[in-house]
Amino acid sequence: MFRFLLSFFLLVNLLGATENQDILARADALARSAKTSDLFKSYNDYKNLYLRSIMSDDDSLKIKSLNGIVVTGKELHIDVSEYSQELRELNSKKTYKTSDGTKKTNTQPILLSSLSRLESIKWDDNDLVLSFDSELKSDQIKYFVLHDNVKNRYRYVFDIDSSSITNSKVLTKRGISRINLNQYNPKTVRLVFEDSEKINMHFSLDKNDLTISLLLKEEKKFQPNVAKIVQKSSKNNKNKIIVIDPGHGGKDSGAIGYRRYYEKNLVLSIAHELSSALKKRGYTVYMTRDKDVFVKLKDRTAYANNKDADLFISIHANAVCSSKAEKACGLETYFLSPSRSARATSVAELENSADLSDMNGYGKSTFLKFTTNLTRIASNKLAIDLQRGMLGNLRKYHKDVVDAGVREGPFWVLVGAQMPAVLVEVGFITNPDEAKKLVNKTYERNLAYGLANGVERYFMNN
Ligand SMILES: [Zn+2]
Repeated sequence: MFRFLLSFFLLVNLLGATENQDILARADALARSAKTSDLFKSYNDYKNLYLRSIMSDDDSLKIKSLNGIVVTGKELHIDVSEYSQELRELNSKKTYKTSDGTKKTNTQPILLSSLSRLESIKWDDNDLVLSFDSELKSDQIKYFVLHDNVKNRYRYVFDIDSSSITNSKVLTKRGISRINLNQYNPKTVRLVFEDSEKINMHFSLDKNDLTISLLLKEEKKFQPNVAKIVQKSSKNNKNKIIVIDPGHGGKDSGAIGYRRYYEKNLVLSIAHELSSALKKRGYTVYMTRDKDVFVKLKDRTAYANNKDADLFISIHANAVCSSKAEKACGLETYFLSPSRSARATSVAELENSADLSDMNGYGKSTFLKFTTNLTRIASNKLAIDLQRGMLGNLRKYHKDVVDAGVREGPFWVLVGAQMPAVLVEVGFITNPDEAKKLVNKTYERNLAYGLANGVERYFMNN
């Protein structure tokens, strides 16, 4: 894997290092947007910069890009734990390298002492007053609004240049479902108001005090916490071709789980459900297998390419060794990327194992090309929409369904796809609770319906 990465960095190098500051400025601006599409662009810019920073051994750029990846990634529900770990390690280093080879001392501790400290926070009727130990300027406060379509949540975020909060605080106010205050990073205190409805508010600065005034309605209407999917007319869908790829098959049983349920059987069943849900909405659907037969990994995306498909969705169930079986659970969706995450790599190893001979013969350049082109971004978007779709629909019936997130992984079954391609892990077949659900027809239908919602949402937004 390391060799792939190295050649990837060399490619990136050719693009030139002088634009880094421009890209950074653009990424920073887009990161403040409330629009998912902007956050995406920003996230991808930061990742691009991160690769450049590794190549040019520029720790200063690396810290900035990692910071951006972590902030935007979290907003996009992408697993960024590996990046945030690296960021923590870098931040704890005393000195770091810059692009011109000089060493700089990490100046964060000095900056911190000059920051305003939050001294008190209190309610005055519907005003929340934050008092600091020195005067705040308006450019020390960043305010933005985020909307999560799936959870139907509005988040009003105040990032204030300040230090001093040791523990996060949850504040309460009738009419607002959640208010949270925490030290977001060493230089920023973050205050978030969260609710299923829009909150009318304005804020004002008066010397040391920041006052946030809420204009609350007398009574709030109850809104179900369920994603609203606008059912589009199926007219446009008729042009869209979707290839569904039920994992494994034939001699390759995939994972064998609780009560010896076979992955190959339950993913085929879910794939059939998804096929009929999508056909009902007007899509043209093909399946890489519709019965219990073996299909080589590389033939699966080749099939989708031949069909000129718009989307490729590979369906799998996850597994862990028996000692972890009780604990490991959740749904996750992967898109192709040379991820360094240990978790993604181990899941990928499991899914890749059926077809090692094919994998070795595969052109590595294809893999590289895939990771750099726009398809990766589209696949990332599709992964998010499918993950949200599944969770949104399943949680209507099963509140306890676990969101294991959208992740990147080196899955060979996705290599070579010329369209957005993702691999969905519908749950852990080794977990007794999830396995029981996964072989239940109604659960399978609900899961498939949620995936179809995700497909619908993806086409609506793109
Ligand atoms: Zn599998």
